[in-house]
Amino acid sequence: MPHLVTLVPGDGIGPEVSDATRRVLDATGVGIEWVVEEAGSAVLDREGTTLPDRVLEQIRRSRVALKGPITTPVGSGFRSVNVALRHELDLFGAVRPSRSLPGVPTRYADVDLVVIRENTEDLYQGIEFERASPEANALREEIRRLAGIQIREDAGVTVKPISVTGAQRIVRFAFEYARANGRRKITLGHKANIMMFSDGLFLRIGREEAEQHRDVIFEEMQIDQLSMRLTREPETFDVLLLPNLYGDILSDLCAGLVGGLGLASGANLGWEYAVFEPVHGSAPDIAGQGLANPLAMIRSGAMLLRHLGERDAAVAVERAVDDVLERGAVRTADLGGASTTSEVADAVIIALRG
Ligand code: NAD
Repeated sequence: MPHLVTLVPGDGIGPEVSDATRRVLDATGVGIEWVVEEAGSAVLDREGTTLPDRVLEQIRRSRVALKGPITTPVGSGFRSVNVALRHELDLFGAVRPSRSLPGVPTRYADVDLVVIRENTEDLYQGIEFERASPEANALREEIRRLAGIQIREDAGVTVKPISVTGAQRIVRFAFEYARANGRRKITLGHKANIMMFSDGLFLRIGREEAEQHRDVIFEEMQIDQLSMRLTREPETFDVLLLPNLYGDILSDLCAGLVGGLGLASGANLGWEYAVFEPVHGSAPDIAGQGLANPLAMIRSGAMLLRHLGERDAAVAVERAVDDVLERGAVRTADLGGASTTSEVADAVIIALRG
């Protein structure tokens, strides 16, 4: 029986890197029945929404999806499809590995860390009050009454909830992930001294859970200090456990440590569903020109294969990517080369077969 996988190519460079990834995964010989579902700007005019219900229904049916990046127009009033997907499917944990790669010169040669990001709460829950709206005015009044704090009349407001339920499941997930993947240390990033009741709660739950998992080292670090240390001694970190916003920001920082967004893979996981996608966005500046590096999405595809239980194929794809990088002859412009997206995919397929 082939594995049923929903493919959401996305927009911008999404279709290019999705096509490359699909070709590589098919070349592994693992039987995958792809069901392609469009979302994002490609369907907005036709269907009046960027995330049609049928996309969610199909992912629920297949349980597993591979997704290209999708544009979120700034200030358009449209909710990010990426954030909506994570909420609708309750994909509460993002896993984003960053490892130094052969043939990719960077400042540090021995980085091997994984960001585990809480994906559903925090400032990304979408609780927004537009400046001067009746709702914002009512909220300002309520906060003045409850907390004695006067928010300026011309302020927009975004709310940052972090719950015990939400924190507990991501913290437990992180410890289980560490144990299952031979990771020794978890560093929890926070700003609990300023945000006592949100980050403070996240930290408290982390400490409590750490008591139950003594086989994994647990350390806590303020997010500003963590950012600085990551740029000076990234090799000293193993698993980074972060609330949503910090996880988003530090994922890109960690991608930068090992060669940039063109290489950074990721998974969004919940109890029931899993959506694999690169860390990068739709890169409108290079879309449609065959310039995009497909390796971030191909490596997300390897994570998907592992999730499907196809470990040998996952390892083969990872090795083929390493091989292409090490040889250095075929690479896209972000890595200093002049190859196209599909030439890189072809090289990975040849390395797979070799
Ligand atoms: P981006 O990741 O799209 O691009 C940042 C820079 O990295 C650009 O210069 C781009 O050319 C380069 N880059 C990204 N991926 C690359 C690749 N595979 N190969 C070569 N170069 C690559 O970030 P952005 O410009 O801030 O965002 C563009 C759009 O993507 C926004 O609408 C944003 O909301 C969206 N976005 C979507 C996702 C997602 O779908 N999960 C994630 C991040 C951003």
